[in-house]
Amino acid sequence: MSPSPRIKGWCPGAWRPMATGDGLLVRVRPPLGQLSREQTLALCDAAETFGSGLIELTSRANLQLRGVTDESWPLLMAFLVEHQLVSDDPDAERQPQLMLAPAWQVGDDTHTIASLLQARGSELATMPGKVGIAIDAGNAPVLGDSAADFRIERSTEGGLMVRPDGYAQGTAVNNTEAAVEQLIRLTHWFVNTGGWESGRMRRHTAPLPDWAPADTAPASHGEKLALGENREGMVVGLPFGRVAADTLREAVFPASGSQASISAVQVTPWRRLLLKDCDTLPAVDGLIRHNSDPRLSMDACPGAPFCEQASVATQPLAEKLSGWVEGTVHISGCSKGCARRAPADVCLVGQAGRFNVVVNGGADSTPIKTGFTESEALDVIKKLSESR
Ligand code: SF4
Repeated sequence: MSPSPRIKGWCPGAWRPMATGDGLLVRVRPPLGQLSREQTLALCDAAETFGSGLIELTSRANLQLRGVTDESWPLLMAFLVEHQLVSDDPDAERQPQLMLAPAWQVGDDTHTIASLLQARGSELATMPGKVGIAIDAGNAPVLGDSAADFRIERSTEGGLMVRPDGYAQGTAVNNTEAAVEQLIRLTHWFVNTGGWESGRMRRHTAPLPDWAPADTAPASHGEKLALGENREGMVVGLPFGRVAADTLREAVFPASGSQASISAVQVTPWRRLLLKDCDTLPAVDGLIRHNSDPRLSMDACPGAPFCEQASVATQPLAEKLSGWVEGTVHISGCSKGCARRAPADVCLVGQAGRFNVVVNGGADSTPIKTGFTESEALDVIKKLSESR
């Protein structure tokens, strides 16, 4: 096991940026998980003007800018507020994060619940900063692998239900209003029964109250959005969750104007963006366009020099390893393993400037080999792949 990384216990925001290895990290929560085309272009401008020009899509479907300085941050915030990418009220960021099932449509249950919850946001209990809510009310839940403490989902019976994280079943509710009411009530129960000490719902051991029986099963999981054509537009992938601002700008508003029909960009927790009302897959370098691209089964955190806890660069190694390993690959700058919670077939973990190799495990699992340079690690992986 590698030495423990520092656990910060809070999530950065826009009003509360986090100092990282390459400057301040500023996280933007797209309202209802969607940015208009104009907002997307504004975010690209912001990344280039006030940051390093990189935009990251996180596993909780947030967008973040890197390389912001103490001097550029106030200007960035004024710009983000002007373009309604960030609320002018810093307290708004203290409300739990809402993650919506991607490909929602105006008026469907996911959109209706999210809108109701936005309107009643002040009625939610004040909870620890990492607590999140998944609104996953399509025909089948798709956010089951994404971190959330409370979920509104579709049940096996086709109705709505509310499920606390850590429970396989939840409570059936009659309609969208009842779902929101139940959720608000659950957040107060969580806090009143020691939720601040637990930190997250899955670690919360207080028994559920009588009015929230865990007796209704969620419907079988649906598939995450495939790349390519979708009934709402086109889905593209971001290599390891990152995209250069000029690449995203070109996808949303190409110089030729040929895809000017794109109306909005919906974020997902799967390193994929849904370009709404787009009728042609953008032919732009720097995006993943095909479901067979091996980078889709690889996870790599930002690594050095972007994260101050990393002693190795992860992204260049990830690019070099692309296609070498059949199965899942995780490259982690340290044992915290931010990029992937589940075990991977092969995991390379940075420690003191070298790589440790884990097989069938996560970044904090015991490695089978330790202390490799990047080229040595590549050799080890090659031999491992050949012996399988
Ligand atoms: S896993 Fe990567 S991003 Fe997370 S703390 Fe470690 S080096 Fe940083």
